[in-house]
Amino acid sequence: MSTKRPEPALPEHDKLRAAKDRDATQTLGEFLHDFLPSKGIRLAIYHEHGDTCRDEEDELVCGTSTEVLMPLGSLDDLLYEFFGVDRKTLDAEKDQLLKHIRGER
Ligand SMILES: [Zn+2]
Repeated sequence: MSTKRPEPALPEHDKLRAAKDRDATQTLGEFLHDFLPSKGIRLAIYHEHGDTCRDEEDELVCGTSTEVLMPLGSLDDLLYEFFGVDRKTLDAEKDQLLKHIRGER
């Protein structure tokens, strides 16, 4: 007598599969904007002081520490760049679409 054994439940694999199926931009945006800050993680840009950072008395005048926190707006710019989307063209397209919907031109 042969009994067919049920397939094992794979809930973590299901979550991983669902994550792969999601829209990548949405997923990355949530990761950067919600998940990382919820873990206390902030992205920062490393600023190395150069010639223009000091005045004649060798005082720092650039106004930055060595590591500079990245403002949230910059994360969006990085996402656009990562996906190869030109933001100015995108905004122009949006304006064009709005004009089209309103029946202008
Ligand atoms: Zn500097």
